[in-house]
Amino acid sequence: MSKEMEQKVQAFMARVIAKNPGEVEFHQAVHEVVESLIPFVEENPQYKEAKILERMVEPERVILFRVPWINDKGGVELNKGYRIEMNSAIGPYKGGLRFHPTVNLGILKFLAFEQVLKNSLTTLPMGGGKGGSDFDPKGKSDNEVMRFCQSFMTELQRHIGPNTDVPAGDIGVGGREIGYMFGQYKRLRNEFTGVLTGKGLEWGGSLIRPEATGYGAVYFAQEMLATRNDSFKGKIVAISGSGNVAQYATEKVNDLGGKVVTLSDSTGFIYDPEGIDAKKLAWVMELKNVKRGRIKDYAEKFGAQYFEGERPWGIKVDVALPCATQNEVNDEEAQILIDNGCYCISEGANMPSTPEAIKIYTDNKILYGPGKAANAGGVAVSGLEMSQNSMRLSWTREEVDTKLHSIMVNIHENCVKWGKEGDFINYVNGANIAGFVKVADAMLAQGVV
Ligand code: NDP
Repeated sequence: MSKEMEQKVQAFMARVIAKNPGEVEFHQAVHEVVESLIPFVEENPQYKEAKILERMVEPERVILFRVPWINDKGGVELNKGYRIEMNSAIGPYKGGLRFHPTVNLGILKFLAFEQVLKNSLTTLPMGGGKGGSDFDPKGKSDNEVMRFCQSFMTELQRHIGPNTDVPAGDIGVGGREIGYMFGQYKRLRNEFTGVLTGKGLEWGGSLIRPEATGYGAVYFAQEMLATRNDSFKGKIVAISGSGNVAQYATEKVNDLGGKVVTLSDSTGFIYDPEGIDAKKLAWVMELKNVKRGRIKDYAEKFGAQYFEGERPWGIKVDVALPCATQNEVNDEEAQILIDNGCYCISEGANMPSTPEAIKIYTDNKILYGPGKAANAGGVAVSGLEMSQNSMRLSWTREEVDTKLHSIMVNIHENCVKWGKEGDFINYVNGANIAGFVKVADAMLAQGVV
């Protein structure tokens, strides 16, 4: 980037930081995007004159609320509730709810900002939003989780609706939580509508939605590998996390002939050089989704190694799929991955790589699929769930999987179109510019709103 462009990026970021103090993850996400977009906007003055970028970093609406609830001992508990309605230029706000003790305004704004571009990339008509709470479902009984979800939805319901804002799951929000929240919405509003996605199959959910993010991240990696006439066959793969995204990423890598050798959670990672096959994965799903146990138990059950408090990036692999949380691969770990021969990274999680790690990927010209492109399969199938709800019909597993696959292929093609730099495909620039153009053009058409 030229000196002049660098100065423009710095000046833009100085304003963002001054207006949003302390929101470090939000600053990080905006910085990564404007590094791609400021040079593009300079070449396309219609966006500059209409201050599209400046408007895009300001949420259309931020809702903050109190979530009081009663624990099993009869005591009063209190959490914070949030919904960021970031951008509705191309459709109703859409994006997940995260329940995790680390949740704060800056984290949700980063996620909502990324979501706007991601949803645009899917080609479906969805704006961007994100929400959640600092509530920690870990260690809570089902009844406590239900009472929390009911209280959360009692306030949230007045701000959302199938044509306004359609939340979904994210960290700490799976089928159980979506069920409790949907039940409360239906009771308060007296309507059965597609106001949430990730619903159970019997009550408006879509086949393949649980699988979609993990499958999608692997489909995206498959497309990246194909640009080098390569495939998953025989590849050794490191995956972090052991939740929804990690589980189905593992399943799809196995389907495509690769071998997954690691999984993790917030306390450590397991290394199983034999590979986490379908049988072992079924055991992990039971452990995490039903028993709500720790990944450490895998090591005891299957005689694998367990590394307390560590992340899996020191293991020698060909492909890495970070599927846990933000900033879980730093520069040191990125360098170790590459030194060990890893040449393909597809992000199932949102912003799992630090800016310094991304620079190392790009400098080494490895295949790197950033989260907003690589993990867009989840929200894409949420979009398909919304369509099925509106039409009051259900597509088959094969129909949804075929659509998901073709959306991921399409996102990859779009990234190539906007990110090709000679022989190298800069997927970061590609995803940022491709996602931006559609939203920016809609904003231009809709005037200064
Ligand atoms: P889950 O809650 O199902 O699983 C999260 C996993 O990540 C768990 O194994 C969890 O471990 C681990 N984890 C969470 N926080 C941390 C942390 N601070 N440090 C280390 N490990 C952590 O969430 P999902 O699988 O749904 O989400 C994973 C990532 O994928 C997130 O970044 C999310 O935003 C992103 N994503 C999810 C989509 C979806 O459809 N679900 C769509 C697109 C992106 P533990 O059990 O110990 O908490």
